[in-house]
Amino acid sequence: LLAAGGVVLGKTNMDEFAMGSSTENSAFGATRNPHDPTRVPGGSSGGSAAAVGAGIVRCALGSDTGGSVRQPASFCGVVGIKPTYGRVSRYGLVAFASSLDQVGMFGATVEEAALLLQTVAGQDPRDATSSNREVPDYLEEIDAGVEGLTVGVPAEYFTEALDPEVRKLCEEALDRLRKAGALIREVSLPHTQYAVPTYYILAPAEASSNLARYDGVRYGMRAPGTDSVAAVYEASRTQGFGGEIVRRIMLGTFALSAGYYEAYYGRAQKARALIARDFQRVWEGGADVLFTPTSPTPAFPLGERTQDPVSMYLSDIYTVTANLAGIPGISVPIGSVGRLP
Ligand code: GLN
Repeated sequence: LLAAGGVVLGKTNMDEFAMGSSTENSAFGATRNPHDPTRVPGGSSGGSAAAVGAGIVRCALGSDTGGSVRQPASFCGVVGIKPTYGRVSRYGLVAFASSLDQVGMFGATVEEAALLLQTVAGQDPRDATSSNREVPDYLEEIDAGVEGLTVGVPAEYFTEALDPEVRKLCEEALDRLRKAGALIREVSLPHTQYAVPTYYILAPAEASSNLARYDGVRYGMRAPGTDSVAAVYEASRTQGFGGEIVRRIMLGTFALSAGYYEAYYGRAQKARALIARDFQRVWEGGADVLFTPTSPTPAFPLGERTQDPVSMYLSDIYTVTANLAGIPGISVPIGSVGRLP
């Protein structure tokens, strides 16, 4: 970005180690939603979404392991892109869950988000997982319209979990697409119900491995006043991680431990393959794109879910599938519920 003439204004707030859906797991304090300061901006890249939503910058970067660009983009009324796995180099990005992580873009408009992606996409010898496929011109067809485009609408994304007002906005958006010439077709992604449990086994498992290096020796804070290697590890890891990180490390370590590995990690890997195959079948069936809500609700009040991790995890129900399948996703504003995007 710097080489292309970009101007960096600053770093933005986020959930610690990108674990969270509200930016409330930050040692710097919570970020507020620019449309209603009593509400969260979403997360984990909530600071970037809020900065674009408030008009401080036109675009910003974030990371998306299970929705952390798309969900805050939707809460803050901006565009958020999670590119295909491997599209953008992760060199310099702190690893959370390496098989899911991807750098994402926020833009005030689709065009600005696309420009940002255009600038950062491509192979990087310093990231072995970056793709060597040619980077297409993302702006080439930006005015082409949707005439003849087949838009799949997965039935599993429109259940009781979806807020009725969000559902209404989705239906209105689908009507606009239909009027503009798109072919709207109901499709099925039958393993969707397993996506959140699958993600919340795999992501903590990978995180517990990635965070093992934060032992106060080379990485992370080092607790003072300890007198043995074991004491440095224990005190540094106890004092250095916030509560959600401790929960993930414990969940992940349990899921990977001898005797439980097959029952949890092994089964989650199989479920992941089934979720990816669901998407494959839909593309083979002729869908060009899918239309889904980004989040089941608009931005929720600050503090509402901090004591209830499961309700926080359920905010990710519509976004984790793309990461599990490795496919790209974009969140675009479609309207508001009151003043909330
Ligand atoms: N909310 C999800 C989590 O807490 C996704 C986070 C992300 O995409 N970085 O893991």
